[in-house]
Amino acid sequence: MLTPLGPGAEFDRIRHFLAAARLGDAQRVLVGPGDDAAIIDAGRLAVSTDMSIEGVHFRREWFTPAQIGARAAHVALSDLAACAATPFGVLVSLAVARDAPPDLAESIMNGLRVAAEETGAVLLGGDLTRSPGPVVIDVTAIGTLEHAIVRSSAEPGDSLWVTGMLGGAASAVADLLADRTPDPQSLSAYVSPVARIREALWLAARALPTAMVDLSDGLAGDAAHLAAASAVRLIIDAPALPIHPSALAHGEEAAQSLSLGGGDDYELCFTARAGAVEIMRDDFTNVFGLPLTRVGEVTQGSGVVLRAVDGQLHSMPAVGFDHFAPRSA
Ligand SMILES: [Mg+2]
Repeated sequence: MLTPLGPGAEFDRIRHFLAAARLGDAQRVLVGPGDDAAIIDAGRLAVSTDMSIEGVHFRREWFTPAQIGARAAHVALSDLAACAATPFGVLVSLAVARDAPPDLAESIMNGLRVAAEETGAVLLGGDLTRSPGPVVIDVTAIGTLEHAIVRSSAEPGDSLWVTGMLGGAASAVADLLADRTPDPQSLSAYVSPVARIREALWLAARALPTAMVDLSDGLAGDAAHLAAASAVRLIIDAPALPIHPSALAHGEEAAQSLSLGGGDDYELCFTARAGAVEIMRDDFTNVFGLPLTRVGEVTQGSGVVLRAVDGQLHSMPAVGFDHFAPRSA
C-alpha cells in the first residue's frame, strides 16, 4: 500500500518515482512507502545494507543514472544471494547535489526499482536528501529465508566452488583508469553485475552449499572471510581459476591478480561436500548459461593459500580490496 505524501518539491519527486513502483503482496507488505516505516509480515528475514558513493564505487562518466541505480540494487541483493534468501524488498537512501540534473535522482531510482523488481523485491521505502557533492546511494535489502546458508559451516574435506568468471569487472576498471576502452564483456561485468539470486536458490534447493559468500572484494579476500568464519584453511588451485577472457588480455600475472583481488565480480563462492556438485554441474550451466568451477578445497588450518600448477603452496598475494588498507607511498 502506498501512503499519500503532503506537498513539497522533495515529496513531488518521491511521488513521481513511486507512481511506477510495484506495491508487492498486500498480505505481506501491510504498509509500503509513504508512511514513517514500512510494515511487513514476512517470516524469517535476511537483511543487509550496502552503500555506493560516487568517486569511490563508481564515476558518473562511466554509467548512465539508471545503471548506477541498477548496480546499487544488485550489489545489495548479492548479499542476499550469498545466504540463499529470496528478495522481498529494498529500502533506499539517495543523496544528490542540489545542482544535479533535475532527473538524476529519478533516473537512478527508476533503474534501482526496476532491477529490484526483476528479482522479486519491491521498493518498501526510502529517503531522498541533498548531498554536498557526490551521489550517495544506500540500499537495504530484505529477503525471506527457508534454509539460510552462512559463511561459518565449511568443513575440512569440502570442495571450493565459484560461479561465473572472475576478473572481468576489474579488467574493465583497469582499462577505464588507464583511459583505454574496455571490451564490451568486461564493461558489462563491471557496469551491470547481476546478483546471483536464482543461482543461489537453485544450489540451496539441492542442499549443495555448506557455506557461501558473495564475491564483492575479490576471491582472495572474500574466501579469507569464509575461512575465518568456518575456522578452516582454503586451498585455491591457481590453474583452476575461471579467469575472465578480458582479464587474460592484461597478461598472465595481471590476470591472476585481477581474478583473485580485483573485486566487483558479484559471483558466488561456496563450499560443498566432495563430489556433490560435479553431478549437477552441467545442469547448472544449462539452466544459467554460467560455468561452475571447482577452484580448490577445504582443509584443517586457517587462512587461504594458493596452490601452483606444481602442487607447491604459496601464501596469498595481498590483492584483495580493502577501503581502509594503509595507503602505499
Ligand atoms: Mg557479501
